[in-house]
Amino acid sequence: MSSRAGIIVTGTEVLTGRVIDRNGPWVVERLRELGVDVAHIAIVGDRPQDITGALRFFASEGVDLVVTSGGLGPTADDLTAAVVGEFQGREPVLDQALQGRIREILRPMAERWPNLDQAALEEGTRKQAVVPLGATILEPVGTAPGLVVTPVDGRSGPAVVVLPGPPRELQPMWEAATQTDAFAAATAGRTSYQQEMLRLFGIPESEIAETLRQATAAGVDLDTLEVTTCLRRGEVEIVTRYEPDAAATYAALVALIRERHADTLFSDDGSSVDVQIAALLRERGWRVGTAESCTGGLIAARLTELAGSSAYVAGGLVVYANDAKSGVAGVPEALIAEHGAVSIPVAEALATGAISTLGVDLAIGVTGIAGPDGGTEEKPVGTVCFAVATADGVVSTHQRTLPGRRNDVRDLSTTVALHLLRRALVEQPADSAGAASQG
Ligand code: ATP
Ligand code: MG
Repeated sequence: MSSRAGIIVTGTEVLTGRVIDRNGPWVVERLRELGVDVAHIAIVGDRPQDITGALRFFASEGVDLVVTSGGLGPTADDLTAAVVGEFQGREPVLDQALQGRIREILRPMAERWPNLDQAALEEGTRKQAVVPLGATILEPVGTAPGLVVTPVDGRSGPAVVVLPGPPRELQPMWEAATQTDAFAAATAGRTSYQQEMLRLFGIPESEIAETLRQATAAGVDLDTLEVTTCLRRGEVEIVTRYEPDAAATYAALVALIRERHADTLFSDDGSSVDVQIAALLRERGWRVGTAESCTGGLIAARLTELAGSSAYVAGGLVVYANDAKSGVAGVPEALIAEHGAVSIPVAEALATGAISTLGVDLAIGVTGIAGPDGGTEEKPVGTVCFAVATADGVVSTHQRTLPGRRNDVRDLSTTVALHLLRRALVEQPADSAGAASQG
């Protein structure tokens, strides 16, 4: 048995990219957590025939459930409820009790703006209270009710869950949709899946492909695992979904990956490098700081993304110009003159400068050429120098040539910096340095 669903995201604004679809992938994740498989998200324009076409496609695919988003508003161009009702063979009826509840929701607004066109408001309310006969109503979060609409008796086809477009309305309504009998019936065939994530850094995706081939050769039955790899922010994520009885197969795959990629696998529980750094710093009671040139504060921003980061982030020096590097981070002018601003010695001086200026236990200094201008033959665009220091001095330095445009170079530099900090924390004995926060 299995249960499959399709998703229809409506809205010309989403189709054209003016609004990025936040509903389709969100619903896919919720369905997958429940063990319902999704193969397609259809993004369609606002015309009724566009929505009908997508419904027909999913019915012909034989899915058990369709979830729609958008087009439930009070205006005439919001047609989803009517189109779905017609598709399921259910005539539109005015639900007067629902009309009363929507009126109540709108009352404060109507009172706040007495100049609103009351007749238009009432017309909108009425429109939103017209629902397919026999549909299950999901109470409005905004003003639009959601619906669960099954095919009228005697017809076959998927049940359709109709949800509003704004994510802040759709998401709270989802729970109610899953509680309905129609949803339960449509997803009766679902299986429970396990989903796990591994993260690696500093490895091309092709290496993983090779490892998967080797796994197959070694007798790991990959057909029982759904493995997807994805390159994101310089890291490779390996997401695997499997049914409970394939747990041993997954364990065998992880063992192989651990063996072949010991130096690049940094997370076997899906935890991000950000979360790991936070835990490592907390464990030792260390504080971290940055001195950033080409990343312009992005590393400090990333370090402070997590709530509670004030416990272990002191701050960052954004030292873009040479006089700021000298004046604020204490990089000797002669060093810059001798080696150039983008150099390992300057990165080292930035890191040790951050240690003393910010009074931290661990710091990273970064200086590079993000482009598009400023590259030379010796130091092309994308050249970035990193240094990590503790209170004892510099512990590691690295020079990389990072690919991509200005934004990519800055973003990738940030990720590299976090991984260097993580590595320093893993490799440095806990009693080294630490003087800064104790002294
Ligand atoms: P409303 O009552 O606000 O009209 P609706 O159910 O009719 O709600 P839409 O008209 O389709 O929904 O969309 C309203 C707004 O919600 C859009 O302008 C957009 O800002 C947001 N929205 C709609 N669909 C999506 C989506 N898939 N992802 C992100 N935002 C969306
Ligand atoms: Mg609308």
